Amino acid sequence: MARLTIKGVSKAFGASFAVRDFSLDVDDGELVCLLGPSGSGKSTLLRMIGGFERPSAGAILIDSKDVTTLAPEKRPTGMVFQSHALWTHMDVFNNIAFGLKIRRLAKPEIRERVEGALALVGLSNYAKRMTTELSGGQQQRVALARSLVLEPKILLLDEPFASLDQHLRERLREEVRDIQQRLGITTLFVTHGQDEALTLADRIVVMRDGGTEQIGPPDLIYREPKTEFVAGFIGSMN
Ligand code: ADP
Ligand code: MG
Repeated sequence: MARLTIKGVSKAFGASFAVRDFSLDVDDGELVCLLGPSGSGKSTLLRMIGGFERPSAGAILIDSKDVTTLAPEKRPTGMVFQSHALWTHMDVFNNIAFGLKIRRLAKPEIRERVEGALALVGLSNYAKRMTTELSGGQQQRVALARSLVLEPKILLLDEPFASLDQHLRERLREEVRDIQQRLGITTLFVTHGQDEALTLADRIVVMRDGGTEQIGPPDLIYREPKTEFVAGFIGSMN
């Protein structure tokens, strides 16, 4: 059974469609990369799955439950944005604990879960630091921990490392893959880094103009790229 089902989802802004009749099933534990040129609808699709945008048409199901119109905090999803939007007036602990406090968890459980999330992202000793003291990579790790601490069934990552340098991006990519496999968490990863998608994904969805241009495992996309967008990149790797 699919963990996530997207059924004929569209999103119109005025007269134009950001996402157009998009359908996809994602298995439990699968890591799907959404690839595609700027403006192809990747972020809008992810925001609809996370509840930050409401579809104009279609349905989104998680474990067969219709979540299409549910608010973000009512969904079993966690989202990490390109700009991490951490709170600068709170330390790392409180940034991560915030969502748990809203959900009124007991203090000892909050502490335990925040410590667990910090350990997952390799920041166990950083609970008392202010986020402004952290490097860009550490800040993105805190953003990741802030999502994971909610124990989501689905992790949504929208170009989380786009602002980081190449070396750090590669390291964080490995860390995400590692965490993803350890937790077995279903993940949708938006990137316009083709290399990121080819090395990370169980399956790649190439988007264009709000729809699916090509879908398949990385080796298929690599061998038989349907799009100029991907083919051009693979050409440059050879
Ligand atoms: P991607 O993440 O692939 O770059 P987006 O989902 O951000 O693509 O955008 C897809 C299309 O939808 C673009 O043409 C963009 O300009 C448009 N769009 C996205 N969000 C809005 C919005 N809030 N209002 C109007 N147009 C939007
Ligand atoms: Mg985007």
